[in-house]
Amino acid sequence: MVSALFPIYARAGLAFERGEGAWLIADNGERYLDFGAGIAVVSLGHAHPHLVATLKAAADRPWHVSNLFQIPQAERLAQRLVRATFADLVFFTNSGAEAVECAIKTARKFHASSGHPDRYRLITFEGAFHGRTLATAAAGGNPKYLEGFGPPVDGFDSAPFADVRAVEALIGPRTAGILVEPIQGEGGIRIFPAEVLARLRELCDEHGILLLFDEVQAGVGRTGRFLACEHAGVAPDIAALAKGLGGGFPLGACLATRQAAKGMTVGAHGSTFGGNPLAASIGNAVLDVVLEPGFLERVARMGAVLRQRLAELERRHPAIIDSVRGEGLMFGVKTRAPNGDLAAAAQAARLLTVPAADNVVRLLPPLIVDENEIAEGVARLDIACAQLEKQVAADAGAVR
Ligand SMILES: *Cc1c(COP(=O)(O)O)cnc(C)c1O
Repeated sequence: MVSALFPIYARAGLAFERGEGAWLIADNGERYLDFGAGIAVVSLGHAHPHLVATLKAAADRPWHVSNLFQIPQAERLAQRLVRATFADLVFFTNSGAEAVECAIKTARKFHASSGHPDRYRLITFEGAFHGRTLATAAAGGNPKYLEGFGPPVDGFDSAPFADVRAVEALIGPRTAGILVEPIQGEGGIRIFPAEVLARLRELCDEHGILLLFDEVQAGVGRTGRFLACEHAGVAPDIAALAKGLGGGFPLGACLATRQAAKGMTVGAHGSTFGGNPLAASIGNAVLDVVLEPGFLERVARMGAVLRQRLAELERRHPAIIDSVRGEGLMFGVKTRAPNGDLAAAAQAARLLTVPAADNVVRLLPPLIVDENEIAEGVARLDIACAQLEKQVAADAGAVR
């Protein structure tokens, strides 16, 4: 049967029927170790008992009432995000792109409400990914995502990756702020050095502009800290969260300091679905687990185990693996063979991964992954690397 879905995804021929923790069971019964976690979304793994119980209980209460009314679940979730981060205020969305969109609008409105409506431009970085709406695609600047969609939304100036000099040169009277992923996800797990983030913070303070962190992929515990920017000890004025926040339920958030959000007054922005009781209940359930004492420390510990194992793998397969980089449970394996080949070989070994730019294969296991599962995942990646080596050797033989 011909699919009735927009043919915009290159989907693997796999469908899953059940999930348990870090495992997905395909409809033919095969068990896959899920180190993609639905692109860093299924932060607590599949069918986490606390999330399932929360969802079932929330299903019997009003799912949606609109933001015309009080939503205690969203109030509570916002309070908890504020307590866990730099932020004073939160706006809830249904996706990462909407969270970034709100961050962009909040920054522009900050300057407009300060008497500088002409200060609307954001400095961004090469390799960035901020979403697929018109504005967030323009912010990301990837020509692949802009081509054919008319003039890109104006207001973004791209600097080379982590290039502070270039940023300094780009700051002008129309600059509203700097938008950056502390760790680029889609860009290939490229980590901004702590001193670069610190320098961006200084530049923002010197010029009276805002620092915006896109933590849609790296946030909510993925790196072993609640926000990835905590590793650098740098706080933004505004941040976007999403992927891991709902554990698989569509939920995003734009976080801001009270000062940065000063232009976001009644009527300035909105969302029909954002922060509805159902979504907020599940967000709270995710935080019940992620903010539990010791949870983030455990993520960091499992991350250290994964790093160690990947380092061994890199030594065993120098012809396949160029390098390994990451933080917490957010890793990228830069390959010498095409990354799609390694991802396909991993899938054949029943390990799910996610390709990224810069010829990287991403490993983003659920944050509840244990040491045995990490060992098993890397063992499967080892099989995939060996398979690729054989393939490379065979191809070389065929050429000769
Ligand atoms: C995934 C992602 C987005 C976009 O999120 P959607 O939910 O797909 O809109 C934005 N920024 C980053 C860093 C992401 O990884």
